[in-house]
Amino acid sequence: MLSAKMQQAFNEQINAEFWSAYLYLSMSLDAANKGYKGISNWFAIQFKEEQAHAQIFINYVLSRGGKVELAAIDGVPTEWESPLAMFRATLEHEKKVTSLIHNLCSIAAEEHDFASSNKLVWFVDEQIEEEENAQDIISSLEQVDDSKLGLYMVDKELAARTYAVPSPLAGKEE
Ligand code: MG
Repeated sequence: MLSAKMQQAFNEQINAEFWSAYLYLSMSLDAANKGYKGISNWFAIQFKEEQAHAQIFINYVLSRGGKVELAAIDGVPTEWESPLAMFRATLEHEKKVTSLIHNLCSIAAEEHDFASSNKLVWFVDEQIEEEENAQDIISSLEQVDDSKLGLYMVDKELAARTYAVPSPLAGKEE
């Protein structure tokens, strides 16, 4: 059984994961509106990944006999001035998510909830990847320095991204 404090913290994280999903869907739509099909694809996959993160937490809370209570999802920005601005906002957001995950780890440690500590290891690793991915794309966009040809090339590259079900959900959906 999860402690009340741990359950509350996981519920807040579930909401944060859905907010992330909503943010990335908004970026995907903004990119599509501006003709960046590849960037739109990249963020559409990010949207799916964030929903999967929420599902992993939901499954975990249920597996521990806890209760999931879905709260309202706050609004998100709807427009960014450039692809670079979008990926810089992504990196900033992922840094915040990393601190949320680390805070969950601290609560699990305080509560002596070793099962939750173990479950969170995957998310700690995932955040390294999330920040690295955003940083790599920022670096590419900085190199092309807003040139139309450069943006075209980066957009083409991001069109190739495909969705993979995160390993904690493998075999549980799709
Ligand atoms: Mg996430």
